[in-house]
Amino acid sequence: MSLVGDAEPGHVCPDNSMMTGPRGLSRNPVGMLTMNSRILIVGAGPVGLVASCLLVDAGIPVTLVEAASELPHDLRASTFHPPTLDMLERFGVVDSMIAQGLKCPTWQFRDRREGVVATFELDRLKGETNHCYRLQCEQWRLGDMLHERLKGQSDLAEIRFSTKASAVRQTAAGVELDVVGPDGTAETLKGAFCIGADGIGSVVRKSIGAAFDGLTIPEIFLTLSTTFDFREAMPDIANIAYLSDPTEWFVLIRTARVWRALFPVDPTLSDAEVTSPERGEKLLQGAAPRSQPYEVLHRTAYRVHERVASSYLSGRLLIAGDAAHVNNPLGGMGLNGGIHDAFNLTEKLIAVVQGAPLETLSRYERQRRKVALDVVQQTTLRNRAILNTREPAARQAYYDDLRRTVDDPAAHKGYLMRTSMIQSLRDVATIE
Ligand SMILES: Cc1cc2nc3c(=O)[nH]c(=O)nc-3n(C[C@H](O)[C@H](O)[C@H](O)COP(=O)(O)OP(=O)(O)OC[C@H]3O[C@@H](n4cnc5c(N)ncnc54)[C@H](O)[C@@H]3O)c2cc1C
Repeated sequence: MSLVGDAEPGHVCPDNSMMTGPRGLSRNPVGMLTMNSRILIVGAGPVGLVASCLLVDAGIPVTLVEAASELPHDLRASTFHPPTLDMLERFGVVDSMIAQGLKCPTWQFRDRREGVVATFELDRLKGETNHCYRLQCEQWRLGDMLHERLKGQSDLAEIRFSTKASAVRQTAAGVELDVVGPDGTAETLKGAFCIGADGIGSVVRKSIGAAFDGLTIPEIFLTLSTTFDFREAMPDIANIAYLSDPTEWFVLIRTARVWRALFPVDPTLSDAEVTSPERGEKLLQGAAPRSQPYEVLHRTAYRVHERVASSYLSGRLLIAGDAAHVNNPLGGMGLNGGIHDAFNLTEKLIAVVQGAPLETLSRYERQRRKVALDVVQQTTLRNRAILNTREPAARQAYYDDLRRTVDDPAAHKGYLMRTSMIQSLRDVATIE
């Protein structure tokens, strides 16, 4: 178990004016950009891969460095929200994600003992999105497809595995990224900009000097995947269900192959105790008692933080995804928010590479940092409060509010617009 704690290579970008001054790019955009605008991306998680694809599609060369020797296939996020699927359509991967995944047209809040409190129906988003459902599809499946896509564009996309970034800095000519390669050799890569998509421990965030204030959720989150079909025990359960309880809340998510159950676990236990088969069996039997033991295929335990970087950029150094913000998984907003960052950031970066002023990039921070603070953190913390509030009157108030929301068509749709993250994308468009 692991608890989550927390130019061509060597090519100099010699002439900043090539990126910021007006040029005849419309006549030959790719040719002009290739020589001068290599963008260095640290981290081949979903955010780094999406950013790489968007830049390469715009004809901008990227060097993507990844510390791991290959893309991980461990179980992390699996929820894709409607607008994220709308965005990913341009890569031609969504049909395959749907084929490998499971469409979830509804999701529920339930009381662990009393049953359904509120069922949200995503078809109320008709006309707002091409995908009126959450898609459950393990994030590594998207990663694999984007990686394949980049491999097919090797003239512009250089991908270096087993290459760990240790520091990044700006120079008069661009940026320099210190890395250690597979054979232990240290090297300095040069480019026009550097995007840190290097996750929670981001080296790029530290190089920017941004604080990462917030809190650490006290409980450990333990995810167990099981072949047991929870519909046998709870016939009215939706594919995604948040089960509230004053002593032990949990979440059940159905994927195409297994159900994933997420439980809070006492953080004072040792790593071995948290992921022991006995603990998993006890938790699952508590959730849905049965005479046979549960077959558990995966166990993942991790610490969860709610943090937002104090700054998302410094000059030509930028951060996105978990490098910039982390939150609890109750609502599936971390991965989705990171992908939305990648789209927002690269749109501005492409404009800057094509001649817009460097200042254009600061709008990325104004827009996306606000979403992380005002939407993602607030929603995920409220979801946790709905699940674990102990005081009976407060729990009842949450339930009453949810019931009123689903019973009122306008409120129901408004809630879905916010929780599916469509609203945040529209709201930030008005931020200059
Ligand atoms: C164990 C675990 C379980 C999770 N479960 C859920 C869940 O159930 N639901 C949910 O919504 N979210 C979950 N998340 C969060 C979700 O996976 C992240 O929000 C998402 O992966 C963010 O994508 P990213 O690309 O920003 O960062 P990451 O996916 O973390 O990718 C960062 C990449 O950068 C690489 N890297 C880091 N440092 C360096 C360096 N110095 N040099 C080179 N490469 C570097 C890493 O190896 C990694 O490949 C989970 C996260 C973890 C860790």
